Amino acid sequence: MHKHPIHLIKKDKTYTYKELAATLKVEKGTVQRWHKLGLPALPGTFPLLFKGEEVKTYLLQKRKKQKQPLQADEFLCMHCHAPKRSVRGCVQIVPGRQMGKFQQYRITGKCETCGTKISRLVTNKTPEVLEAMKQYQSGNKKTIQENII
Ligand SMILES: [Zn+2]
Repeated sequence: MHKHPIHLIKKDKTYTYKELAATLKVEKGTVQRWHKLGLPALPGTFPLLFKGEEVKTYLLQKRKKQKQPLQADEFLCMHCHAPKRSVRGCVQIVPGRQMGKFQQYRITGKCETCGTKISRLVTNKTPEVLEAMKQYQSGNKKTIQENII
């Protein structure tokens, strides 16, 4: 993911599309897209002007949203653009490459929301992920907690 140099934006300065694009080293069209997606422009300005402070806030929030840490039993679904669990019984764990002292595994599943094939690469560096995913390999609906009881 491209990291925008948000720190280069001055809070009290106002920017045109062009200036903003040049400051952040992005295409003008990217700034136009941000505007469509919610970056507010100063009211009554034409060509549109953006206040540095609002640009900073917008981009920081956007960055936060992109950082979606996955739970041990979640995949990042490319269709839903969100962390999703797999339909039970659809998870497959296939050993992949050996990476130094770690074994890589490709885990595939089916998004429980949209049915798209989802996959995740893990190594035995994170055994909790492998353990959690194993619970989804069978169609058994019992959760980990229920198994312990
Ligand atoms: Zn999905």
